[in-house]
Amino acid sequence: MTENRTARRVQVRGIVQGVGFRPFIFKLAENGGLAGHVANTSSGVDIHVEGAPARIDAFIAAIRTQAPPLAQITSVASRRAAPRDFSAFEIIASRGEESRATLISPDVSICADCLRELRDPQDRRFGYPFINCTNCGPRYTIIDDVPYDRPKTAMRNFRMCPACQAEYDNPRDRRFHAQPNACRDCGPQVALEDGEGTVLEGEAAIRRTAALLADGKIVAIKGLGGYHLCVDAFNNTAVERLRRRKRREEKPLALMAPDLEAIGTFARIDPEEVEVLTSPQRPIVLLRKRRSHPIAPAVSPRNTWFGVMLPYTPLHALLLAHGFKALVMTSGNLSEEPIAIANADARARLAPIADAVLRHDREILLRCDDSIVRKTDGVTRFLRRSRGYVPVPVFLRREHPPVLACGGELKNTVCLLKADRAFVSQHIGDLENLATYEFFQATIDHLQRILDIAPKVLACDLHPDYLSTRYAQERGELPLVRVQHHHAHIVSTMAENHLEGRVIGLAFDGTGYGPDGTVWGGEVLLAAAGEFERAAFLEPVSMPGSAAAIREPWRMAVSYLAHSFGERYQDQDIPFWDAIDPGQAAVLVAMGRQGLNAPLTSSLGRLFDGVAALIGLRHRVAFEGQAAMELEMTIGEDATGVYDHGWRLEGDHRRIAIAPIIAGVVADLARGVPGPVISRRFHTTLTALFTALCREIRDQTGLDRVAMSGGVFQNAVFATELARRLAQEGFDVYTQRLVPANDGGLSLGQALAAAAMWAAAD
Ligand code: ZN
Ligand code: ZN
Ligand code: FE
Repeated sequence: MTENRTARRVQVRGIVQGVGFRPFIFKLAENGGLAGHVANTSSGVDIHVEGAPARIDAFIAAIRTQAPPLAQITSVASRRAAPRDFSAFEIIASRGEESRATLISPDVSICADCLRELRDPQDRRFGYPFINCTNCGPRYTIIDDVPYDRPKTAMRNFRMCPACQAEYDNPRDRRFHAQPNACRDCGPQVALEDGEGTVLEGEAAIRRTAALLADGKIVAIKGLGGYHLCVDAFNNTAVERLRRRKRREEKPLALMAPDLEAIGTFARIDPEEVEVLTSPQRPIVLLRKRRSHPIAPAVSPRNTWFGVMLPYTPLHALLLAHGFKALVMTSGNLSEEPIAIANADARARLAPIADAVLRHDREILLRCDDSIVRKTDGVTRFLRRSRGYVPVPVFLRREHPPVLACGGELKNTVCLLKADRAFVSQHIGDLENLATYEFFQATIDHLQRILDIAPKVLACDLHPDYLSTRYAQERGELPLVRVQHHHAHIVSTMAENHLEGRVIGLAFDGTGYGPDGTVWGGEVLLAAAGEFERAAFLEPVSMPGSAAAIREPWRMAVSYLAHSFGERYQDQDIPFWDAIDPGQAAVLVAMGRQGLNAPLTSSLGRLFDGVAALIGLRHRVAFEGQAAMELEMTIGEDATGVYDHGWRLEGDHRRIAIAPIIAGVVADLARGVPGPVISRRFHTTLTALFTALCREIRDQTGLDRVAMSGGVFQNAVFATELARRLAQEGFDVYTQRLVPANDGGLSLGQALAAAAMWAAAD
């Protein structure tokens, strides 16, 4: 063998740490009769391998084809090396190096092997709520720094017992170098504290938690990325009590059910949804409610969907095994605040909400909410991209300088660019209070550290008052690029689809700062990464009361009526007026005419709200987008008909007329046409309108690629129908699949737009 011995140095990059990669390499080398070593480095995994050339080739080929399930390899580079006559293959200590470009794995739900051991009375970890292995368990939320090794994680304070240490040291063991490895003797423990200060530990704590829940009590439970507030999903009184205490009026509450069979009793699941429900990411999946189901009405009032997830930690599995068919598992916070992660914080903030707190002593180093997805047209669409997906990067078409994009105001995320990767943070939330702002800053610091990125350019929104904008301004030392909101939306879609050059961008949402001082949101742009022009927009109407018009869609309805019918806006004989005080309406109209606290908006989101209010769906909303959502849910299946629509060319852009659409809706209402039919016609009208508009723009500019983004595209009916029509007309249509279409995806577009604008200015 010695006469034909060669050696190679192999560098593997991608998500290759904390996913059982080194034991995999170890076994692969051993099986191939190869010698050498493997180590984690700050840029990935480094292998020295020597032996017969043919065997080395087979070894290198197998790295990609047989990699462990959680690994995501981005490159395998190998070069010739000098044989050093190793006699065996070894795993050697991690090496921290200058360049730290390694990718950290997201948190992973409990795997089938660990679940089996958890339920096996013969296993030494039977019933232990922190069982994990190299294929599963916490990652992103317990890491402080790279390389990913135990001293850099929340496990540093737990010294492994001899049995755990033996597993950890044995490359043939499923727990080899599993950083969170632990057992009942040496690892984290749960403890339940009730209102009276009584503390129970271990199994007794879990048993008591289950008993409290069965009794209708609210328990705050520490999870992977933060605390949940938990209550029996079949007990309406208990769910209503939770809503009151949490100050969450109507926004649906997420459910956790033990298995698919249990979910099937209250929601319909198709095979694609099964796949994402049971994936290692275990997001909350929106599922259609069954017509009749036993879940408490207060869980998801006036909504045809449930948000459901399967248990993803061993603690969840143990808890649900107490016979629960569904538990409410909502984020552990007061509405609008970030979720609690520290035990002291949970005690302080959640005590007024929860009857008891089930805590544990494995620290959560970084908060990470549950992700929320929906399957539409066979594609998984993110409503919120967080636990299970972050920090997997979006791979870009080319390399970029290090940019930090600070995101928008609502559903904020931040994004860091490094070479050909864009790291979009977990969901941070609405930057409207100090606690969320602190979380925003902590996330930036944390991501910069674990990804080893020192930004050279900052990006923020054009809006001068966003906290994210102020943060960017206050960082001072770096060049700052301001990116228009809807431009950022379109570039976000372009980035994940690797589009370059100019596209037709359809940016439809609720609110975004327009450089002309109006509130934008129904924008057809001609956009490239570094520049855009406004090709068309909805004719602006006033938003009487500004933010109040978002909370109270009836104000928008009045505004659209006044816009469409002028002085005769109250003469329309429609049921809408039965519930409206004409004097109050007149005040709103006067505000609009005088421009008093009534900014102009071209928002399509507001038009959805206004139409929802007109047909009587709701006059006030408990959360943004609620009225529009209900308009989508009410849609009648087979009504035909389309309202008049069109636009007027004005200089080099087009103003899309609102009046004919509103007039059509009002005429239907006056004739007693039911809401579901009107909703159907309204959706059909918008699809026809924007398809025709794109055709005209294509004729004029030759552009035939359409990129869609913005919160309005969370409306699956509208998004699917518009994309289909445009495709039928020969357009190439691009949408968001890797990040949310709502403002959660904004930071990605901001980063890429800023990179392009900065390069152009340089
Ligand atoms: Zn496992
Ligand atoms: Zn142990
Ligand atoms: Fe937006």
